[in-house]
Amino acid sequence: MSSDRTIGVFSGDSPGPLVISTGGMHGNEPAGVLAIQRVLGLLQSASPPLSFKGKFVGLRGNVKALDLKQRYLRQDLNRLWSVQYVKELAELGKGNIQDEDEELLGLTSAIHDLIAERDWPHVYLLDLHTTSAAGDIFSVVSNRPDNVGLGLSLHAPVVKGLLYRLEGTILHYMDEVGGITAVSFESGQNEDPASVDRAEGALINCLHYAGCLTDTGFGAEYDAVLRSYSRNLPALVEVVGYHKVNPEDEFRMVPGFRNFQQVKKDEVLAYDRNGPITPGQNCRILMPRYQAQGEDGFFLVRETSGF
Ligand SMILES: [Zn+2]
Repeated sequence: MSSDRTIGVFSGDSPGPLVISTGGMHGNEPAGVLAIQRVLGLLQSASPPLSFKGKFVGLRGNVKALDLKQRYLRQDLNRLWSVQYVKELAELGKGNIQDEDEELLGLTSAIHDLIAERDWPHVYLLDLHTTSAAGDIFSVVSNRPDNVGLGLSLHAPVVKGLLYRLEGTILHYMDEVGGITAVSFESGQNEDPASVDRAEGALINCLHYAGCLTDTGFGAEYDAVLRSYSRNLPALVEVVGYHKVNPEDEFRMVPGFRNFQQVKKDEVLAYDRNGPITPGQNCRILMPRYQAQGEDGFFLVRETSGF
């Protein structure tokens, strides 16, 4: 099984869960695709052959944008996901839709075909991303406990409350479909080669958490990378603020902010045509926008304990 959509497949020698990982939902984020390819290589070349339960499949997100090395063609693929919208696209038919609509229908079809293959004991989805800012790594989850549990198992800070500020992400869709444990993982800056290593570690941790890998030592060196990288970062944070950007805003982020950097309430984070933008509270900044496209200016988060 190989196509532009499918990066690769690894099937176990005994029954188990289905684990799907998507890379390159944003075409300027190839690290996820590379990480999936490397994990598939590790699984295939293990000697003696690995005991593996279930099936792992890697899928490309925005195939055309990945080819063009740009974030998206016409609109952000990770803002379009809803069961109703996918149904409308399917009714229009593949020949009558284009760009991100075509990508969304292709990707959801691939995911649903995999889920329909058999009666899986459980289905997991790990959606791999990178960010335009320098800095740290984190998981994004909905507030469902199984998603938070998978997020914490990746050994990077978990961000909850983000989905209330957004619409149409793959995580919204998976919650709507139900029965799928899903996490998005941000592995670092887009061009940083270490972002591939960290995405690799998250994916291996996900395969352990899902119960596919029975050899607990497999990939321990990748997990060590994650643990050491996350050592001084909060385990769980909650979103307390969001700055949305409109195209006419002339939004400019002040250079140099890192993910999870502490910011003061009067600190200037960005400028737009109305002047300086401050957080209004002492907190931490997440995903400051240093790319030209997209409507997310930055997020503000605070440490939280418990689910
Ligand atoms: Zn992304």
